[in-house]
Amino acid sequence: MSHSRSPLMHNHVFKTLGIDACYTRTHLSDSSKLRDVFFAKALSGANITVPHKEAAFIACDEIRGIAKVIGAVNTIILENGRLIGYNTDADGFLRAIESFGPLKNALILGAGGTAKALATVLRQNDIEPVILNRSSKRLDYFNENGFKAFSWDTFIPSNAYDLIINTTSAGLSDDFLPVDATLLSDLLSRARCAIDVIYGKETPFLREVKKAKLPYKDGSDMLLEQGVLANSLFMHGTVSTDIIRPIMQQSFLY
Ligand code: NDP
Repeated sequence: MSHSRSPLMHNHVFKTLGIDACYTRTHLSDSSKLRDVFFAKALSGANITVPHKEAAFIACDEIRGIAKVIGAVNTIILENGRLIGYNTDADGFLRAIESFGPLKNALILGAGGTAKALATVLRQNDIEPVILNRSSKRLDYFNENGFKAFSWDTFIPSNAYDLIINTTSAGLSDDFLPVDATLLSDLLSRARCAIDVIYGKETPFLREVKKAKLPYKDGSDMLLEQGVLANSLFMHGTVSTDIIRPIMQQSFLY
């Protein structure tokens, strides 16, 4: 779902720049076959989506950048016959929230793969993340890595958070809020801004953010920025992100 726009985004850049490349989708039913599929299709690069990002991390010969800390890879590049893994979700998110201005802390709703990436990049950039998840089952990674992480049962909303982030899939194909309505309203009343990583629709979360009259974004800017970074990697850094960004942005108008 979150990558359904990706072929359009990448192919528009390749076509505009006259690059002889094509981005298509492949359904991978078995994570352990990732390498075989990559080489069988003679790919030079790939984006990996849910639920294969952790398997992609294991499948690569070398991991670069923040992916090493997150343990999940969303971009693979073939370099001298070796698979090099990157994570552009994290830096894409960071770029997407730049327009909110300086932030000192953030509350991340959800504890899945996206939450891991965002918590890591926020902490690296001195924005203190706190994680709040429906259940405790996914909190081990966060506790083991020194993050403040709570389940609905253990969370006490004593602090104000500059940024509230929805990384849950609540609202993606249902009408659920990612957290109790009264709690969300209280959190939003003390926040400065909010972002939902789901894009292309007004989720129940974003409806509440609008009611609270906060500056907000959906996941489109994150989608764009992770795509810009991945596209630059596909072209081995030969084209700068400043050239790629406006071209890729045009594809959002289609
Ligand atoms: P995961 O499946 O790894 O995690 C889902 C999380 O959502 C879990 O923490 C789960 O809680 C929580 N959750 C699910 N349903 C509910 C609910 N009804 N109420 C409260 N919490 C709920 O997903 P990902 O982290 O991989 O992806 C999350 C979202 O991010 C997706 O919507 C995806 O499309 C989007 N995304 C957007 C990108 C972009 O570029 N804009 C990039 C990458 C992802 P529990 O542990 O209790 O089950």
